[in-house]
Amino acid sequence: MPATPAWPPKSLPRLFVRQRLGEGVGVELDAGQANYLGNVMRLKAGSDLLLFDGQSGEWMARVAEVAKKRMTLSVEQRTREAEEVPDVWLAFAPVKRTQTDWLVEKATELGAARLIPVITQRTIAERVRLDRLEAIAIEAAEQCGRTRLPVIAEPLPLRTVIEDAERTLYFADETGGERAASAFKPGAATILVGPEGGFTDEERALIRAAPHAVPISLGPRILRAETAALAALTTYMAVAGDWR
Ligand code: SAM
Repeated sequence: MPATPAWPPKSLPRLFVRQRLGEGVGVELDAGQANYLGNVMRLKAGSDLLLFDGQSGEWMARVAEVAKKRMTLSVEQRTREAEEVPDVWLAFAPVKRTQTDWLVEKATELGAARLIPVITQRTIAERVRLDRLEAIAIEAAEQCGRTRLPVIAEPLPLRTVIEDAERTLYFADETGGERAASAFKPGAATILVGPEGGFTDEERALIRAAPHAVPISLGPRILRAETAALAALTTYMAVAGDWR
């Protein structure tokens, strides 16, 4: 046995499963997950791994049985309780596919509770593949240690997002607003970011007229839509979210 442990320590594979987890529960993996653990991560019977189901925290599990295209796991003890995710939603006008994928991955890592594609007058009319975005969010949650997944919501028209008066609507306005770092306060919040072409004057007036809307500025430069979304979310987490 070596005198000192190997450094950096090997981290355990971490997998999201749709089944509700608990001590002693058996988990039958589908062919895709079994292939990933068996052939990519090279797990064998007796190997340890971590599981989460999005609700009950994180669990240590062991590979019980490996068969062709199939793997059975046995859940042992809970390693972490489910975390409290700050109640912050990100409403974004979908951009091109690669940038939208990137935005969903990074917003998941940063801790957004819900991601809402918003249809604005200048939103690029590409179809939003929710199943694809959900798969990206799952992979990001597996990698970053989240125990809860962000909700990937159906696309909503801008008007519906504005009408939700239960939440403070922080509106990233490239024409000016309160400094983001002083504007954000703890509490239910939606961050709204516009499309590449920006909001129309009519949309901007509609948003600004909502009593729960707070226009925010993200500095003197015009940011790409996905940069603006992540800059706003990062600032929120630092001053009002769970980085405080
Ligand atoms: N086409 C617009 C223009 O040239 O003025 C720029 C739109 S910008 C690429 C996309 C979105 O990012 C904006 O609608 C806004 O929500 C956000 N954004 C970008 N830079 C910003 C800034 N400095 N402050 C606040 N929001 C910003």
